[in-house]
Amino acid sequence: MQRRPFLQTLCGASLATAFAQAQETPKKLGWALVGLGSLSTNQIAPALLKTNNARLAAVVTGSPEKGKQWSEKYGFDASHIYSYENFDKIIDDADVDVVYVVLPNSMHREYVERAAKAGKHVFCEKPMANTPDDCRKMIDACAAAKKLLGIGYRCQFEPHHREAMRLAREKVFGEVKHIQANFGFQSGDPKQWRLRKALAGGGALMDVGVYALQACRYLMGEEPVEVSAIETKTDPVKFAEVDETINWQMKFASGRSAQCTTTYLFNGYNDFTAVCQRGKFGLEPAFGYTGLKGFCSGAKNYLELPNVDHFQLEIEAFSQAIIEGKPFAPSGEEGLRDLLVIDAIYRSIQSGKVEKVATV
Ligand code: NAD
Repeated sequence: MQRRPFLQTLCGASLATAFAQAQETPKKLGWALVGLGSLSTNQIAPALLKTNNARLAAVVTGSPEKGKQWSEKYGFDASHIYSYENFDKIIDDADVDVVYVVLPNSMHREYVERAAKAGKHVFCEKPMANTPDDCRKMIDACAAAKKLLGIGYRCQFEPHHREAMRLAREKVFGEVKHIQANFGFQSGDPKQWRLRKALAGGGALMDVGVYALQACRYLMGEEPVEVSAIETKTDPVKFAEVDETINWQMKFASGRSAQCTTTYLFNGYNDFTAVCQRGKFGLEPAFGYTGLKGFCSGAKNYLELPNVDHFQLEIEAFSQAIIEGKPFAPSGEEGLRDLLVIDAIYRSIQSGKVEKVATV
């Protein structure tokens, strides 16, 4: 065989092989984790190992030593370890497609904006930010960079919650008329950032009350327009800066209602009940990482669905939206809508009156 036709054949063959492989092996997007605390360590990094379209490609940490340990454990080069100071250099890192912000709440806005400016898609933990205004700025930054922004509302990908959404949407028990939703736990370490208003933005409501709020919004399928709330405290020293327990009620545009409790005072509240025209359904426990259980009128064991890794599902969904060039939900607007309700709840606690929820 002549040298040139031989090479052409070889090139053609290897191109064809490469093309076939590209067809078979979906591209794994590179994710960078910002903040290597409890959630990143115990949930997100292990979930990234299971995903079919994403991989851990970089980290942003205040500790070079920790960064080195992570690069060795997760198999990426040490050149992909960033500090909070040199994070913007990630713009030149072709291995990173997505930045996942897993920092204290008040820091979400800065790192979402910097990630968008660096030309990366951004996934941000809940609550999206401390104020509606910060949420708007984050949405604008990602829109200006033409990058996707997703919020880590893991329950929206979880099978029990998705089935509950379907029951509500398809009116399987008739229309949902009222919802009760509660989530709280007994908070420990008095020195943690979650009890500092500047970092957390608020207490139990910002941290876990947002799950109860989310459930009410996605089961009702419409937005609350008015709220009324009271805050109670048993330990004004520990909870000097943030809320310990909040009870709030919401009126939706149609006139339907919801009632919620969130707390840092006690364990045992982790559920929702949707009261419908013909009976009721719900989950208890509803919002943990595993072990969710459904119930409905007349049956204790309802919605016996598999337990899955919520983080794996949300990461795969966000990666897939990027790969296919499609929009993603829950988006920044979803995070903003929650912050608008939270803002009205805090205003109601201050004023002692019913407060209107501002519009997007
Ligand atoms: P964490 O305290 O365990 O980790 C926070 C990380 O931020 C640490 O690596 C810490 O070093 C870093 N950090 C950087 N600057 C800091 C500062 N000034 N003060 C404190 N820490 C600083 O917190 P976490 O539990 O991993 O929570 C991080 C985010 O994830 C929060 O927004 C939280 O609401 C959210 N979260 C979501 C879920 C969920 O189920 N989706 C669960 C837990 C936490």
